[in-house]
Amino acid sequence: MSFRTVTVLGATGSIGVSTLDVIARHPQRYRVHALSAHSRMEQLAAQAAASQAAVVVVPDDAARARFAAAWQGRARLPEIRVGAQALADTAADSASDTVMAAIVGAAGLPSALAAAQAGKRVLLANKEALVVAGRLFMDAVRRSGAELLPIDSEHNAIFQCLPHAGRASAPAAPAPGVRRLLLTASGGPFRIRPLGELAGVTPEQACAHPNWSMGRKISVDSATMLNKGLEVIEAHWLFAMPAERIEVLIHPQSVVHSMVEYEDGSVLAQLGQPDMRTPIAYGLAFPERTPAGVSPLDLARHGRLDFETPDLARFPCLRLAFEALRAGQGACVALNAANEIAVEAFLRGAAPYTAIAAIIESVLAGDWPRAGDALGSLDGLLDLDAQARERARETLARLGVTGAR
Ligand code: NAD
Ligand code: MG
Repeated sequence: MSFRTVTVLGATGSIGVSTLDVIARHPQRYRVHALSAHSRMEQLAAQAAASQAAVVVVPDDAARARFAAAWQGRARLPEIRVGAQALADTAADSASDTVMAAIVGAAGLPSALAAAQAGKRVLLANKEALVVAGRLFMDAVRRSGAELLPIDSEHNAIFQCLPHAGRASAPAAPAPGVRRLLLTASGGPFRIRPLGELAGVTPEQACAHPNWSMGRKISVDSATMLNKGLEVIEAHWLFAMPAERIEVLIHPQSVVHSMVEYEDGSVLAQLGQPDMRTPIAYGLAFPERTPAGVSPLDLARHGRLDFETPDLARFPCLRLAFEALRAGQGACVALNAANEIAVEAFLRGAAPYTAIAAIIESVLAGDWPRAGDALGSLDGLLDLDAQARERARETLARLGVTGAR
């Protein structure tokens, strides 16, 4: 058993909270070094106190003041670091060996990449980092010798079903003998809702996921199935698998978290409760296994497991993600940026649900680079990301929505 010192980026989010829950179950295995959060400083202070974090990272001076105020009455204030550069520096900090990358959106890319470049064990929840910077990120992992462990439940399932000889790796080619990866998807809250009603659905309805409890952005992505599209791109990079060998299957019960199909006809699946503490505990303890606080799976209670092919007319975002993956890295940056802008507008009630796919489609129709310098550096990718966000805002404005961030 190796003792690990862990930094949790995005500690106050759904994945962050689950990560701290698993860590707290194993004080003899894990210690917290640093925690980061973007808002909710009272929650961050409570987490830092409970986990005895040495460092917290907050976005600006106002947040620093709120953190310090929330700390009042407790002993030994942690070191408070401020800003985006401090976040990336903390991800690479030599005081920790393991980094949970659980910030939502492309905002999490620089810190996740810094952890990869610094050769950490990177527990990657932030799928947007791979969508935006797949090649750069995987190259960084290979060059530094980082250990990359996927936390997204589907990719964690696939990782568990692939041969890896007890070592995490960033493969340059598909694992020998593997024919296809089968990514399962619940289909979200609108799997069977009449198509004509989708224009009128509310953020609350979109965030009411039937099986998983998650942050609001990924909940909307699950409703549109853009989340599965991002996961197809994520699987492409993690497992060096071409798009045509990745299949998406709707599985409403969310018991089978994904599968690997081998050339001899074998299909290996990983099953479990829809509880992110399972993949988190797996990534923290790999290659060992530890309790995660998750109750046993009762298959007899489920009785049956269903599978169906996704309907691309209902889920245009899934089609758009496959198109972006085929069109190249620039299009993937644009897909992700347009989605982040569109989902933010939908969540604050400024754009209808059906505008999300329309905005992504309109932004993707632009001319995005397949190759070239822009895609080879973090700055180049962030620049493209900013351009795509601007396009998405223009599209929103044409639809009569203003004030998009
Ligand atoms: P969340 O919204 O619950 O939490 C996000 C965290 O990121 C918070 O701590 C927040 O303070 C921080 N954050 C937000 N914006 C930031 C910014 N601009 N700069 C720095 N920090 C910022 O999100 P979540 O559901 O925990 O998801 C986190 C990531 O994990 C996402 O990429 C998501 O796709 C992925 N993921 C989540 C789940 C899940 O079950 N929640 C499952 C698989 C993958
Ligand atoms: Mg997932």
